[in-house]
Amino acid sequence: MKFTQNSYMFDMVLFELQDIAGKEHVSTRASDKEVYSIDYFWISEMWHDRQAGRDITRPMADFIVHPANAEEVSKVLKVANNYKIPVTTWGGGSGSQGGALPVFGGIILDTKRMDKIYKIDEKSMTVEVGTGIIHQTLEWELEQKGLSTMHDPASARCATVGGFIAHRGTGVLSTKYGKIEDMIVNMEVVLPTGEIINTLPVPKTACGPDLNQIFIGSEGTLGVVTKVTLTIHRLPESRKFRAFIFKDLSTGLRVGQRLISENLQPSVIRLYSENETKEVIKKVLGIEKTGAYLVYGFDGKQEMVDLQMKYAKAIADQEEGEDLGTELGAEWWKNRYKFFFPPYMFHLPQCFGTLDTVATFSDIENVYNAMKEVVETRYPMARFIGHFSHWFPWGCMLYARFIIETPPEDPHEAIYLHNSIWNDALRAAMKAGGVLNEHHGIGLKLSRLTPELYGNSFQIIKNLKKSLDPNSIMNPGKLGFGV
Ligand SMILES: Cc1cc2nc3c(=O)[nH]c(=O)nc-3n(C[C@H](O)[C@H](O)[C@H](O)COP(=O)(O)OP(=O)(O)OC[C@H]3O[C@@H](n4cnc5c(N)ncnc54)[C@H](O)[C@@H]3O)c2cc1C
Repeated sequence: MKFTQNSYMFDMVLFELQDIAGKEHVSTRASDKEVYSIDYFWISEMWHDRQAGRDITRPMADFIVHPANAEEVSKVLKVANNYKIPVTTWGGGSGSQGGALPVFGGIILDTKRMDKIYKIDEKSMTVEVGTGIIHQTLEWELEQKGLSTMHDPASARCATVGGFIAHRGTGVLSTKYGKIEDMIVNMEVVLPTGEIINTLPVPKTACGPDLNQIFIGSEGTLGVVTKVTLTIHRLPESRKFRAFIFKDLSTGLRVGQRLISENLQPSVIRLYSENETKEVIKKVLGIEKTGAYLVYGFDGKQEMVDLQMKYAKAIADQEEGEDLGTELGAEWWKNRYKFFFPPYMFHLPQCFGTLDTVATFSDIENVYNAMKEVVETRYPMARFIGHFSHWFPWGCMLYARFIIETPPEDPHEAIYLHNSIWNDALRAAMKAGGVLNEHHGIGLKLSRLTPELYGNSFQIIKNLKKSLDPNSIMNPGKLGFGV
């Protein structure tokens, strides 16, 4: 349903929403609609930046609703189904894929009132929380008890737990503790048609398919995750880091792969390509070196950390790394968030994008080279840099970026250039064994490429969407679903 602002039908629906959440928790204010029209998606920021003097508009919600719990979410979704109104769930709005933007208007469902910590269970080592909690708030509470989820993303202060679940987010310590999806015990979810469900109380069963996995990464298209139980850990007694420079990226990749395959269990490995070492490591850490910068870290009991540090150094020495020592390693840890915020992070008027992908150890270097080649040869105005952030037993994640200092002034041309680079780089990645994304999600940005990634199997995902969301009200236009 499309609304005319001054119609009585608008007021009738508004009244139903106010009746559910309370008048003070439903907004139709123009200033609030502005706030919910931009997330961290480059196009949404650029469009806003270039709006003055141009006849262009940003995606505006009709209603912004702040429900207190799953019961209120359920009622909102039932109203939305009755009138076929789109519903877009909004956590912190820190997503880079345009996933939380209300591109077809309708209802923004902001989760941040669902922010309670219900239970910290130090016997089972779990915490039950409302998904609207800002992740850092949860960490501060846990830290007071010497605990942590060990989910340590750069956006902890501006993203919600639900946002991370929706995007399959990850943090600096993922190599030992996993991505958010590895930390989930069970969830409460409100289905698009309003039913409230709970997944099984434990995540490891032999009771058929794992329902958690249907909703993790579904980006608000299959329901609203309202509560979650996450695993937690005791804060480690010791945490140590060491940095090296290797002669080239290939050597650095081999070292990273050996640190994993020789069973050392690092909590962090981060490897920067030669050009990112030259540009970003120099800017943030002040280290001016030629080659590929690699930092690794271990945490746990002091003696075990020392032993693992010793074996890791032996690998790096065998590969002829230049040892920068533990202090420069610890310096990286201290500055780990700086990389993602101004003045170190790229920003308007630059055009930039994080082309993150993941592949097996056999393919990852080819994926990097294929993306680099396509960006540098087809788009001479663009720079290409990359680092490898998250490591698995079978492969690792590539955090590649393109940067254009002076993109076209015309916003339509800017979008064309931006999207062309994304298409070309990600098609090259997929051809070489990569996928569309590792931890930022699909959203609006990559929606058009999702059917290409999945091929015939995308039909299964579409059927799931159809059966759970028959009126297609949940986050239309995202994750390859269209409207
Ligand atoms: C400076 C900066 C650094 C970043 N660093 C990292 C990082 O280290 N690791 C990382 O993983 N990401 C990082 N990101 C990206 C971003 O923080 C993540 O994608 C995060 O998961 C988004 O959470 P959010 O609460 O802001 O979600 P939003 O942007 O509000 O929403 C994202 C998507 O999730 C859906 N959604 C939100 N909540 C729910 C819910 N409860 N139920 C169902 N669907 C929901 C929305 O509809 C939308 O599709 C960074 C972003 C910034 C700006």
